Amino acid sequence: MIWTTEAVVVRVVRYGERDAILTLLTETGIVTAMARGGARPAGRLSSAARLCAQGTYVLYQGRGMGDVRQAEIARQRRALHEDVVKAAYAAYLCDLASRAVPERPDAPPAAYRQFVAVLDGLEADRVPADVLARAFELKVCAWLGVGPDWRACVRCGASLAETGEAPRYDPREGGLICARCASLITSAAASSWPVPRKISTVLHLLERADIAKLHRVDLSGAMRDALSRILAHQLREFAGVGGRARQVLDDMVASLTDPPGEDGGRLDT
Ligand SMILES: [Zn+2]
Repeated sequence: MIWTTEAVVVRVVRYGERDAILTLLTETGIVTAMARGGARPAGRLSSAARLCAQGTYVLYQGRGMGDVRQAEIARQRRALHEDVVKAAYAAYLCDLASRAVPERPDAPPAAYRQFVAVLDGLEADRVPADVLARAFELKVCAWLGVGPDWRACVRCGASLAETGEAPRYDPREGGLICARCASLITSAAASSWPVPRKISTVLHLLERADIAKLHRVDLSGAMRDALSRILAHQLREFAGVGGRARQVLDDMVASLTDPPGEDGGRLDT
């Protein structure tokens, strides 16, 4: 069977001297396919066999792994290869998508569009890279069923918007807890983490946001640090994805950049 699909390359594994095995994210899910000659710099499929390349792929599907017959690449996404920080984020996000999105045809309906939007956002620089990554991680948590209602205490269900007091993150329950639960439950108080007061709203808005429409996201350094720590833990402990790749990203970004600024604290979506 020959079929045609829009796709983004989320993993490339060299196969021998000439070929490459591609993991493609399509609108209906993940598919793997052999790109013959894809590993040769001047090969016909070389531009179709680069991480983050996006375009129309014509695939032959026999028994076993598919074959890329033809590809018309619409976006090479060179900016994501040339800038070392962007390249690190792109590599992490591709790895996360390749592990978190199910095989075709079981992808969540928004997965392809939101992943394309996160790569577009990295290229465009309108929104800080870490905030884009957090927005995508929040969607992954929801798709994998490990995203709680971030507006409610995971222990008692109380609305966190109404209490006005700072919630805490409970790493064992995998969600935010209200100040009352934190004060009543000794074990929760001891193990939970302090987080900025507005984090419940920020997590909820970023989870629901269409990444393509995110703009003017201005969050404090403390907020960005808390989001980063919570989502790394949430994905690693409850979904079993992202742990090592996220650590590699964090170490690389820390060695290349200054910490985010302390000003601001606004989220417009
Ligand atoms: Zn509570």
